[in-house]
Amino acid sequence: MLSRSLLNSDTQLNQRSYYEASVQRPPALAPLQGSVQADVLVVGGGFAGLSAALELAQRGLSVVLLEADRIGAGASGRNGGQAIVGYASGQGPFENQLGAPDAQRAWDLSVQAVELIGERIATHGIDCDWQRGYLYVAESERKARALRHEYEDHSRRGVACEWVEGGDVGRFIHSPRYVAAFRENTSGHLHPLKYALGLARAAQAAGVRIFEHSAVTGLRRGSTLVARTAQGQVQAKFGVLAGNCMLPEYGPQVAPEIAPRIMPVGTYIIGSAPLEPALCERLIPGNAAVCDNNFVLDYFRFSADRRMLFGGRVSYTTRTPADLQGVMARRMAQVFPELAGVPVEYVWGGFVDISMNRAPDFGRLGDNLYYLQGFSGHGVALTGLAGQLVAEAVAGQAGRFDLYARLQHRPFPGGALLRTPSLALGMLWYRMMDAL
Ligand SMILES: Cc1cc2nc3c(=O)[nH]c(=O)nc-3n(C[C@H](O)[C@H](O)[C@H](O)COP(=O)(O)OP(=O)(O)OC[C@H]3O[C@@H](n4cnc5c(N)ncnc54)[C@H](O)[C@@H]3O)c2cc1C
Repeated sequence: MLSRSLLNSDTQLNQRSYYEASVQRPPALAPLQGSVQADVLVVGGGFAGLSAALELAQRGLSVVLLEADRIGAGASGRNGGQAIVGYASGQGPFENQLGAPDAQRAWDLSVQAVELIGERIATHGIDCDWQRGYLYVAESERKARALRHEYEDHSRRGVACEWVEGGDVGRFIHSPRYVAAFRENTSGHLHPLKYALGLARAAQAAGVRIFEHSAVTGLRRGSTLVARTAQGQVQAKFGVLAGNCMLPEYGPQVAPEIAPRIMPVGTYIIGSAPLEPALCERLIPGNAAVCDNNFVLDYFRFSADRRMLFGGRVSYTTRTPADLQGVMARRMAQVFPELAGVPVEYVWGGFVDISMNRAPDFGRLGDNLYYLQGFSGHGVALTGLAGQLVAEAVAGQAGRFDLYARLQHRPFPGGALLRTPSLALGMLWYRMMDAL
């Protein structure tokens, strides 16, 4: 069974993420007990579920949100915090399946998704260290050519970017590793757990009833949905499934049709000790979040208290890689030799829900049950928009939601038992390609 911390139980490492260590959580909300009714049931207390719940309540619907653990305990409270325009898949699946005009609409929605973060922070007074600035980097001439296409695509689609190569890369990042880069100021980064807790407060203020430690273990469908938890049940006219990898132990009971379309992939982050302000300014002038364009990518940034949060290294076998901290610290030192030997105070991981083509997988099961999944490691911004779209759809304005629902998705080959090993094999290929 998957463990969401992803860290082996015998590890000496600090299993709490930097984010958990740097927030004061409110007391736990009581688990669901007995029978309650609502217009809409939302399953999952990550960004997607919280956003949907908030938007639904703002439209005057009564909403119950059930979370198996604590708010933000899944990917939303443990990610790289990078809120990025565009999609993990690139524009390919949108253009191929929906045509150019709707592909451009999808792009514009991804930009709106980032803007929505700023709006919510302002409207609900969420203090989550939101900082604009994003840097895309390439570590070889071959990767630089691909990055140049990405830069041109961003520019053509209306996101202002600046391209640099060779010695000019040092204007944006002080690393011997990169030969080209482009920077834009629409995307940015934030403290994801502070943001998730802020969304939960906003949702509660709008009337959402949230129950923690209330995993949905079964869902009866029909004109009235009935969700069961260990000690209670919810009856609702509509449902929104926003469980990310939907905890593998429950996914097949709750939504067997969509579970095979998602692969849980582990990804990891280390957090250094706080660094000197002058060093941070030298390493990443302008304090952008950074991501390379390898298939197995490195993504990193500084926290507000100047720790290097360095992410990367994936696991397709659901097992924590050996010597995780050492491997990642060495990788960080290859990018920033000045950080060799800097103490690593945190290491943690989580699961991203990738779809086969890396495009988001949103849709409906029957008339009244919606699902949001397949953010494919690109969900910090897109989840917020997805929640808004699902609320529009439930409230009877399905237009923008159906743009995504028209995308076709395939299951991973091999079913539940074989999809992880076959993906692991596939990944070996991509890692070889990264190395070329
Ligand atoms: C280490 C890491 C780094 C990442 N970095 C980035 C990044 O920098 N930028 C980016 O855009 N994306 C990133 N991502 C991806 C991003 O975090 C996710 O796409 C996003 O948080 C997904 O939000 P969600 O609400 O769909 O899922 P989650 O946040 O995982 O929330 C789902 C919730 O549903 C609950 N749940 C599941 N099953 C049930 C059930 N049966 N009953 C009740 N509750 C249930 C879970 O407990 C969980 O809290 C990263 C992910 C990880 C793990």
